[in-house]
Amino acid sequence: MSPATNFLPALTGSFSTPAAGNPTGAMMEAAYDHHGIAARYLNCEVAPQDLGDAVRGAAAMGWLGFNCSLPHKVSVVDHLDELAPSARLIGAVNCAVRRDGRWTGENTDGQGFVASLQEVRDVAGQRVLLLGAGGAARAVAVELALAGAVEIWICNRSVDRAAEIAALVDGSTPARCSVLPWAAPVQVPAGATCLVNATSLGLPGTGTIEVSYAGTEPALIVCDVIPNPPDTAFLRAAREAGKQTLDGRGMLLNQAAINLRLWTGVDPDRQVMGAAMDQAIAGWEHP
Ligand code: NDP
Repeated sequence: MSPATNFLPALTGSFSTPAAGNPTGAMMEAAYDHHGIAARYLNCEVAPQDLGDAVRGAAAMGWLGFNCSLPHKVSVVDHLDELAPSARLIGAVNCAVRRDGRWTGENTDGQGFVASLQEVRDVAGQRVLLLGAGGAARAVAVELALAGAVEIWICNRSVDRAAEIAALVDGSTPARCSVLPWAAPVQVPAGATCLVNATSLGLPGTGTIEVSYAGTEPALIVCDVIPNPPDTAFLRAAREAGKQTLDGRGMLLNQAAINLRLWTGVDPDRQVMGAAMDQAIAGWEHP
């Protein structure tokens, strides 16, 4: 896309509710400015019953694409024309892309996590203990498996949800995937090289997850998907146990960068987007 030569920007944005706490627009518009892309990112409050109209409206206005966040990640599938392979496996979409008059649904949450982990550790060959079985955990599990993790254990308070993801990943990807019982403290299986908190524990007003680090691999890396606050009690405890840690900002940043590339074809400058994200997170209060 060329720099602005007229007064008509390309449009992108997000549909969710509540939308007010979504900091993604700051990152996107910083990248658009930096790369001279004549586009805007509009953060839109969209109620569940209005989602179909919003998607048709975006098509009518020629949007390049949109993100959808809670509560639309699953229901938006009914309003799209096709799904990318990993979005089909995950069963949820966080990024829709308009190509040749058709909407394709992508899921870049898990891809964002994998890109963030890849910056510090080769994902191929990892043996991962994944805590949680909600939407984020499902996306992370599928993308880790597709990126070459060889073994994934899913550990979740509600065991049925863990079993569903384990069956999906074990049956549809090359990775081995099984369920481990939820326990306090969480026991890290022998040989695990990566531990990921993909639960919502760590958000303000929630608790944390105790982990027994005795006997774990010295190289075990401990990751959290929560971007705000980035330095969770889960990560602090891991550092106290001598473990390398990775916070949830990289996942947020990388999924946004992937979305922007899908819409515009430009691979954006992560430093520019990261600086805008950090500034937005500093002023971002959870509802
Ligand atoms: P969901 O509501 O789909 O899932 C929540 C998960 O947390 C479930 O596994 C749930 O277990 C578990 N959980 C919640 N409360 C407790 C508790 N008291 N004790 C034990 N387990 C609990 O949420 P999402 O998957 O959409 O989001 C999870 C986290 O991921 C959020 O913190 C969100 O901020 C983060 N996220 C980060 C992104 C990023 O870009 N960095 C992108 C998307 C999400 P159960 O099944 O038993 O209820």
